[in-house]
Formats: sequence, structure tokens, C-alpha cells
Amino acid sequence: MSKPRALVTGGSGFLGSHLCDALLAEGYSVIALDNLLTGKQSNLEHLRHESAFEFRQVDITLPFDCGPVDYVFHFACPASPVDYTVHGVETLKVGSLGTFHALEAAQKYGAMYLVSSTSECYGDPLEHPQKETYWGNVNPIGPRSVYDEAKRFTEAVSMAYHRYYKVDTRIARIFNTYGPRMQLNDGRVIPNFMKQALRGEDLTVYGDGSQTRSFCYVSDEIDGLLRLAKSSEHLPVNIGNPTEFTILECAQQVLAVTGSKSRIRHEALPPDDPKQRRPDITKARTLLGWEPGVDLESGLRRSLDYFREAVEREGRN
Ligand code: UDP
Repeated sequence: MSKPRALVTGGSGFLGSHLCDALLAEGYSVIALDNLLTGKQSNLEHLRHESAFEFRQVDITLPFDCGPVDYVFHFACPASPVDYTVHGVETLKVGSLGTFHALEAAQKYGAMYLVSSTSECYGDPLEHPQKETYWGNVNPIGPRSVYDEAKRFTEAVSMAYHRYYKVDTRIARIFNTYGPRMQLNDGRVIPNFMKQALRGEDLTVYGDGSQTRSFCYVSDEIDGLLRLAKSSEHLPVNIGNPTEFTILECAQQVLAVTGSKSRIRHEALPPDDPKQRRPDITKARTLLGWEPGVDLESGLRRSLDYFREAVEREGRN
């Protein structure tokens, strides 16, 4: 019997590349697409001799056809505040045009489709923790809107293709996922703190550090995503770790795990920075039997070698 064929857009990104690994391990053949705007081919280097794997440098904001596929995992999108601010228009295009093209592939070949959406759909939430039924509090014209609205539009298009064309869609709302393969300079809080701690530089806490996030280790996230793919739920499902930390606590955890003597320096809080964020994962628990198992300290420990090597590599270049 031939292997099920999966297409992963954004396949060379942090999360996309971990997804490719997981799909290959489950016996799929995988085609990863990426225009390498923020994704890195080095994330897929270890798959170079894998016969069930293929990488194609494709910009999915233009029409594409990779032939029959059974699964479309639509993960293409700049994901860090620094990346989507630099590439604002590209972010809006991949969320809109790219999403149409990914859905057209799923429709054409009768494939299941799963999109990586985000807790950013909730904006600066007025409901806490966030349930999937919450509609969010998003500034539609602020600096984060290129990402927030792109992803909200992505969700709308995905639901429309489900309702009008019966495409077998899934929507995962992902909350602050971290782990090996995050780019050292993507500006997100964990790579920033790890890099700064390992170099002995000050950790830059924006604002007073009382804002909260709930961090999910990448292996937990991938497990949740695969469970969602195997379910039949078309409405959004939060896939995140519900343990909430202030950013100051996160900085202290990084200092403890790295054993660094770095100090904390406060910098200006970026505009519209959400004050709090924690997923209500009742739906994922009951529907998917999913529960994240890696706490922040263990996840940081598991990521330490990767960040240490990345810092050393950068130091050599
Ligand atoms: N943050 C910080 N220092 C940094 C990078 C980020 O204090 O060097 C804060 C940021 O202001 C936000 C939180 O950490 O409150 C998470 O930021 P990140 O960019 O990782 O993701 P977000 O959840 O905002 O999309």
C-alpha cells in the first residue's frame, strides 16, 4: 500500500519542520513547500536523504499544484512579531492568497486540511483564559494587525471552504510554542532570553514584565496537532499549554536553566502587546484526549543544547 501523501506549507519553518518529522515518523510521504522568506532549509537538512521527503521552494501566494495529496497542512506564515512586522504585506498575502491556494489543493484532491492559526486571533483578550468561543479584542489597524487579521481571515476562508465546498478542514489555535529550531534572531521572547543568557548579556524584558504568556513545548504542540488532524472537528481548537507565566518569571526560568549571571533590563513595551494569554484547553482535553506534558523548565532544558550551538555558530560567523 502506498503511503498517505502530506503537503506541508511553511515546511521549513520552526513548527513546519517538526511537523514534517512527525508525519514521516508516522509513515506519511511529505512534500514541504516554503519560499524561505523566514523558513530555513537548515531545519530540513537532516531529511536530505529521506526518500519519502521532498522539499520544493514555492511561493504559495502564487497558484501551485503538487499533484494528488491526502493531507494539506497549511503552516506558511511569518510567525514572530519581528518577522511579521518586517514582512507585513507578505504576511497578509500568505494569510489570504496563500490560504486560498492551500484550500484549493485540498478541494481539488479531496484532502484533509489543517491550518495553524493562533492565539493572536484573541488579540489583547478581555476574557481570561481564552475559550474558542471568545471572538477576541483585536486592533484591526495596529502594527500587529498584519498578523492578527491575516490569521483571522485565514480562519474565515477555511470555514467558508468547509461550509460551501465541504472541504474537510481543521483549525488549530496555537499558543506561544517554543523549542529547538527557533531562529536565534526571530525576536520572540524565548530565543531572545536564551541567546542573551548564554552570551551573558542583559535579558530585555519589555515593560514591567507583568504581561503573561503560556508556553507550549514543541513536541506537545505537534502531538496535539496530529490528534486534531485525526479528529473530525471543523471548528477551532486551542492547542497550547495552560500554565501561565509572567514574562519576568519566564526570564527567571531562563536564568535558572542556563545558569547565567545575566541581569534583567527593562525596555519599552511594544504597542498593542497583549497583557495576558492562557488557553482554555477543555475542548482539546475532551475531544482529543490531549494534555501537554512538558513544563517550561523541562522544555527549556531540552532546548538548551540547540540554543547553545546556535549561539556558538553565530559567534563563529
Ligand atoms: N518580550 C520581552 N522581551 C523580549 C521579547 C519579548 O519582554 O526580548 C515579551 C513581549 O513583549 C511579549 C512576550 O514577551 O509580552 C511574548 O513575546 P513574543 O514576541 O515571544 O510573542 P507574542 O506572544 O507577543 O506574539
